[in-house]
Amino acid sequence: MDIFSSLVSIVGKDRASNSQEELYLYSRDSGAQPPRNVDYIIMPKTVEEVQKVVLLANKEKIPITPLGGGFTLSALVVPNKGGIVLDMRRMDKIIEVNEANRYAVVEAGVSQGKLRSYLEKNYPHLQHSTPEAPPTVTIVGNALIQGHGHISPRYGVNSEMITGMEVVLPTGEICKIGSCSVSPYWFTRGPLPDLPGLFIGWLGTTGIVTKLSMRLYPKPEFRDVLAFSTDEIDLIPNVVCDVTHLDLLEDFFLITQEKPDWMNHIFFVLIVSGHFKEELELKQDIYKKLFSEFKGGGRVKFVENLHPALRKRFLDVPPLASLAADFKKGGGFEYTGAILPIDKVPEAWRKGLEISHKYGMICSYVHQVLMGNNMMFGFNYSFNRADEEDVEKTRKALSESNRATLDLGGMVWKGEVGAQRLTMERMDPNTVELIKKVKRMLDPNGIMNPGNWEPAE
Ligand SMILES: Cc1cc2nc3c(=O)[nH]c(=O)nc-3n(C[C@H](O)[C@H](O)[C@H](O)COP(=O)(O)OP(=O)(O)OC[C@H]3O[C@@H](n4cnc5c(N)ncnc54)[C@H](O)[C@@H]3O)c2cc1C
Repeated sequence: MDIFSSLVSIVGKDRASNSQEELYLYSRDSGAQPPRNVDYIIMPKTVEEVQKVVLLANKEKIPITPLGGGFTLSALVVPNKGGIVLDMRRMDKIIEVNEANRYAVVEAGVSQGKLRSYLEKNYPHLQHSTPEAPPTVTIVGNALIQGHGHISPRYGVNSEMITGMEVVLPTGEICKIGSCSVSPYWFTRGPLPDLPGLFIGWLGTTGIVTKLSMRLYPKPEFRDVLAFSTDEIDLIPNVVCDVTHLDLLEDFFLITQEKPDWMNHIFFVLIVSGHFKEELELKQDIYKKLFSEFKGGGRVKFVENLHPALRKRFLDVPPLASLAADFKKGGGFEYTGAILPIDKVPEAWRKGLEISHKYGMICSYVHQVLMGNNMMFGFNYSFNRADEEDVEKTRKALSESNRATLDLGGMVWKGEVGAQRLTMERMDPNTVELIKKVKRMLDPNGIMNPGNWEPAE
């Protein structure tokens, strides 16, 4: 039997494809990276189907690329060496919401939108940390790339909220991780060897996560947005330190854009919330007082009468702050997600302006402060997808901002293959060896999303 027929015998003909039209769609993503070849698309529905596909791929040495929502923009789900794209979106059951222990167990294809609306309907007092990405992206894909959501400044990045997993290892074993390996509860990943780390941040190179449990959090009834603005880039670290020192926020953004003129300032956007009206009002008053007394007086201004449309946009979950960014004709949007120490932000800000202007782009930034002491700094670029020259300029701008991020002592988050290689060039050589050893041990035939986390040859 040929490979495609073997794959069809595992998942059935409705969930397998090698048609040129469908391969075309999976051979690219919406970012600026060039398209690459795909041979087969497979949509498993059960963990046993995933296991059978993995065993076949191992026997035939065919690469497998797991795909969730496919929205990292950095071509992480576009195979580098062809083979199977394992589209997990048919595994879309919410298996359990454990209200008392505040966690949800979901299959790999459950989208952010699906969990969000399920909780709103059935558990309106609970919420999960929701990224600003399109609602079709998956809980699992986001957590595995160390993504962040609307309550991350308060509770940490989303990968830290993982409490358990079911994984199909690259050699086909189905393995439980965390308390669910010992008990019926998926409530904690410790106290045990911290095995989730073998699958978080590895970009699908060490196994296929088929189920995952995530912490849920109380949802406050009252929320509001406060905005402050300044024109002094060098004030950013002090403002961020003072604001986060109080430890009272739900979410915290910095936003700017060169055009239109009214946006050409630095806006600090604070989302405050409370279970009681009085709690919310107290927090609002505290932040207004903080800024009115801010060192150097009057350099950071409260934005009175924030436009209702903007207020709504920031209070929505997800907040859609990046929709404030400038989009060119052609709709392309890309960013280097730089995880930066706060004190490096002014330097990164100036560097971002320089890079945008060099490539004839308008500069726009959206940054989210994560847990107070670091920041997801977006070097954002919009481009016209239909204009190859524009796309090429964007690739160059990304590559320069990846390099600038590392030069500033930061980390490139969910970087494309080029960014991963750049990171590995600067990595302690023993760490690079350890990464290679872990991959070899788990995936002896090198079938899992090859090309990722591989040093340049
Ligand atoms: C406008 C916009 C705003 C965004 N805002 C945010 C934001 O606020 N916060 C944020 O965190 N991100 C954001 N993103 C980035 C990204 O879209 C999200 O992080 C998204 O949740 C990634 O999930 P996904 O399902 O698309 O992952 P995918 O792109 O499908 O996968 C990501 C990686 O995980 C691997 N993978 C996927 N599923 C599995 C699995 N089951 N087992 C093993 N490996 C797997 C893939 O191979 C790939 O390497 C944004 C993107 C856009 C376009």
